[in-house]
Amino acid sequence: MQPKNAFEIFQLLEKSNCGNCDEKTCLAFAGAVFKGQRRLNECPRLDRRVIERYSGDSGLSNALGAEGVAHVEKLKIAAAAMDLSRAAERIGAWFSIEKLTLKVLGKDFGIDSCGHLHADIHVNPWVAIPFLTYILYGKGQAPSGRWVSFRELKDGRERYPLFRKRCEDPLKQVADAYTPLFDDMVHLFGGKKVDRQFESDISVVLHPLPRVPIMVCYWLPAEGMQSSLNVFFDDTADANLDIGSVFSLGAGLAQMFTKITLRHGFSTETGAS
Ligand code: SF4
Repeated sequence: MQPKNAFEIFQLLEKSNCGNCDEKTCLAFAGAVFKGQRRLNECPRLDRRVIERYSGDSGLSNALGAEGVAHVEKLKIAAAAMDLSRAAERIGAWFSIEKLTLKVLGKDFGIDSCGHLHADIHVNPWVAIPFLTYILYGKGQAPSGRWVSFRELKDGRERYPLFRKRCEDPLKQVADAYTPLFDDMVHLFGGKKVDRQFESDISVVLHPLPRVPIMVCYWLPAEGMQSSLNVFFDDTADANLDIGSVFSLGAGLAQMFTKITLRHGFSTETGAS
């Protein structure tokens, strides 16, 4: 379902102006959602069912708003104007019948020379924008195998608190509440469990883009210590994507896994099913 204007979004909100979304008022938040600058699920006080109804499977245009769609259209036009065959060689994709295709979390995702997107998975902004940015600007640098945190990437330090809030914290909540999370990462999204890294209990590597792997490490609660979760990137990630797109990949993953958890009837608020 797509809200027709900012006021319709405002009507869904608590109207407490609590500021937990980092906006001064609910109205400002509603306006930002309508413009595609914020997502509805960034209001922690909003009922999950409302979020699902308004942004669940609403598609690219609903999720992005008019400005966001215009931005994606610009990227698509620029990508379609490139030599996609050469771009495919540079970034670890393949080119066939006027179409560049690569694997996003183990699923085919492509763009043709007319700028149309082709995907085996739901096309949402967290995939579309980094995918197009990767084609346009990615250096195609091969991963080095050296894992670093988001804040160690170029321009990552300033944005790390928000990354923690939008990616690592919600993923930890999912992992705490929904134990098959890491199996889903492996079986549904082409991930791979790897040897324990940084003394974590579980480490899984995912490939949201071919040369931009992400490693999720989870530490179980132990001896009075709470569980914890960190997301790591290869230290070449900032050569293949700008920091905004790296952020979008992380936040998108968290959003996707939260949705899966909700679909299985688990609540990340209480940890109970
Ligand atoms: S977190 Fe939700 S309720 Fe609080 S100010 Fe933001 S939009 Fe309003």
